[in-house]
Amino acid sequence: MNPLPAFKRSFAHGVHPEGHDEQTAHQPIQRVPFVNQYILPLGQHLGVPARPIVKVGERVQRGQLIAEPGAYVSTTLHSPVTGWVRAIAPRRSPRGDLQTAIEIEADAYATQRLESKPTIDWASLSIDEFIKQIQNAGIVGMGGAAFPTHVKYDLPDGMRIQHLVINGAECEPYLTNDHRLMLERPEVVLQGTEIVRQKLGATLATIGVEMNKADAIAILKKHLKHYQHIQVLPLRVKYPQGAEKMLIKSIFGIEVPAGQLPRDVGVTVNNVSTIVAIADYFQTGMPLIERIVTVSGPGVEQPANLIVPLGTPVREVLRFCGGLKETTREVIMGGPMMGIPIASLDVPILKGSSGILAFTAAETSRPPEYPCIHCGRCLEACPHFLNPSRLSRLAKIGAYAEMAQYNALDCVECGACSFSCPSNIPIVQLIKMGKEEIRKVKVLNK
Ligand code: SF4
Ligand code: SF4
Repeated sequence: MNPLPAFKRSFAHGVHPEGHDEQTAHQPIQRVPFVNQYILPLGQHLGVPARPIVKVGERVQRGQLIAEPGAYVSTTLHSPVTGWVRAIAPRRSPRGDLQTAIEIEADAYATQRLESKPTIDWASLSIDEFIKQIQNAGIVGMGGAAFPTHVKYDLPDGMRIQHLVINGAECEPYLTNDHRLMLERPEVVLQGTEIVRQKLGATLATIGVEMNKADAIAILKKHLKHYQHIQVLPLRVKYPQGAEKMLIKSIFGIEVPAGQLPRDVGVTVNNVSTIVAIADYFQTGMPLIERIVTVSGPGVEQPANLIVPLGTPVREVLRFCGGLKETTREVIMGGPMMGIPIASLDVPILKGSSGILAFTAAETSRPPEYPCIHCGRCLEACPHFLNPSRLSRLAKIGAYAEMAQYNALDCVECGACSFSCPSNIPIVQLIKMGKEEIRKVKVLNK
């Protein structure tokens, strides 16, 4: 399976939103100071929530295991600070619902130094031991999906990964945390890539980076000389190139069929941040207790890319950035295309929180919705060749069974259809709502 020549590297359909990366792309990553309180929801990854193993009042160290996996499709949770467990109780999640969370009060007098641990000799681990270590470290897909990474690496008997793909596309507007990570820690990106490539037995690893990050492409290529089985491929700029199936199509020209996974075509895809978290764990023993978050948008006083301990309230992150402008109307967690508006600034940063974006009335005012004019632009935008116009109409009238027949569940909720619609129809919101109803019926019929 060879990558396509540069002029062919793209996928069909998709859209071209403005990048808006000028506020943060040139700013070095900074570390936010420790704050007083941390909130760690047990269900911040896909799958079964983690199970607490600490009690209220207990003292915990930075990096200490505080919750173990609740099932196989689940992962661990570690304390981001040295302090005390103050509560294990329902707390508001960024989605707005109440979720059981471990609340930790930081010890203001602790050094917050991570206890040094012997590095783990990853090369000597069997694949099963390696997978267990990834679960022990609490590592999930950090591009936003938060799917436990160890599950992705656990292949059915007889299946083989030939090609590891590292997703450096970062195609959501405003977000630049992966960009900065590739620029500032290129050796670690390559070390993490090599660890995973070798453990999965892949013959080649490809780091796909959109061409608007030419400096990151150049610096990664400069460090490649020690890595014979890794290549860096520039990709044309297009949204949603960071979606796994689109990335595979752009790099190899291969379609992953609907209902199948990248591994079914011999590929595993990991985000740049996930790969760096893996390298950090094997080289320093640090489990996933912090991540880089892009704080940006016209409503933020001082946009930045920040290393933020998990569980830090959004309010504290924004305070470090000089707060919100008075004109701010909406704060989004994630990117503007797939992120979610948050109802409270007290919700915490999670493993999948790639961005905090603040928008003013100019960006958030919803233009009036008009009837569909059957222009077909949403069909041309949909990277999964769905009919978004029809799906949204069916969702509106509650025809969920029919939506399922038209493959609504293949929708990856990228929002390209809504972005392209001249009638301002909230297509992706309608489809999301319809998908939830389809899933409810599926659960009831099990
Ligand atoms: S229908 Fe789904 S996958 Fe297709 S463009 Fe809309 S949100 Fe994206
Ligand atoms: S883009 Fe909007 S107006 Fe055009 S066909 Fe799709 S739903 Fe209708």
